[in-house]
Amino acid sequence: MAFDQLERSPSLAARLDADLRAAHPRAVIEAAFMEFGPKLALVSSFGAESAVLLHLASQVSRDIPVLFLDTGMLFGQTLDYRQQLAARLGLTDVRDLRPRFTDIATQDPRADLWKTDTDACCDIRKVIPLDRALDGFDAWITGRKRFHGGDRLRLSVVEDAPPHTKFNPLANWGKADLDSYIAEHDLPAHPLVAQGFPSIGCWPCTKAVEEGQDVRAGRWAGQDKTECGIHVARAPSPPNVGGDI
Ligand code: SF4
Repeated sequence: MAFDQLERSPSLAARLDADLRAAHPRAVIEAAFMEFGPKLALVSSFGAESAVLLHLASQVSRDIPVLFLDTGMLFGQTLDYRQQLAARLGLTDVRDLRPRFTDIATQDPRADLWKTDTDACCDIRKVIPLDRALDGFDAWITGRKRFHGGDRLRLSVVEDAPPHTKFNPLANWGKADLDSYIAEHDLPAHPLVAQGFPSIGCWPCTKAVEEGQDVRAGRWAGQDKTECGIHVARAPSPPNVGGDI
């Protein structure tokens, strides 16, 4: 193939997106698994809507590695739910990703960085641990949906996120689709949903919302921040030199 043809060739992500943009979420996960096999991971917060994606993935393979960011600042209910849901779905490879000990010791020894610099706190507790874990994979699956608004309104089903390919099987689904899937499969709810939390992250940065507010209105409420940063393209992480907890 000539060089100029190569340059015009659509990327793998663009080709997969063209094929899958209207596909059922399960078909998206099946295609991702066929394409990437053991080099595919799924990232889950075990939050308010996570049961849907995890159940769909478990129907394709219970062995897909599930990466869970245990920031050290999660609600106790989330930690319990992570155990219960993983057991219920028979997930065999849930990996708890924790911040690097040296990062916590040097940058957040009193666990109060979130009060002064939420971006730095998310960096050491979420972005860096996930970057390091994803080093061993070529592709990952997220639970993002367009109806969450903000930057997610333009979400593709498959996107390039160098060096990875990223799959968003639920991009097209709305709240009614999720509710109906949960009811059809009798999936357990995160215990905080009933207390007014439609989106659940770390306890210092998550508030209950009023009826009619956006799903993510309780995340970093009162700040410009709307995302933790794990979906922002980044330079490759440095090699693992030990010191993790
Ligand atoms: S969500 Fe809040 S507590 Fe959690 S890592 Fe980000 S800033 Fe820190």
